[in-house]
Amino acid sequence: MDLKKCRNCGYAYNRYTELSDESAIPKNGDISICLSCGYVGAFKGGWIVALSQKQYMELDEEIKARIVKIERARKEVMKVNK
Ligand SMILES: [Zn+2]
Repeated sequence: MDLKKCRNCGYAYNRYTELSDESAIPKNGDISICLSCGYVGAFKGGWIVALSQKQYMELDEEIKARIVKIERARKEVMKVNK
């Protein structure tokens, strides 16, 4: 994966991890969360694109609950790494 940047904070990344299968390659529509700022986007053609409020609201409740949990964990990790 080439070096890319978060559209929200500019954090440069060159990898991603699928929570249920670390060897999986994201497919179009999979949700992405920036480790640095928590920006929630979706994979499309190898890039992460913005997720509109409407698209976010239409996500499965289980996925939205996972996003909230990941965001809590992300904030804790970022506190420790400051
Ligand atoms: Zn970011």
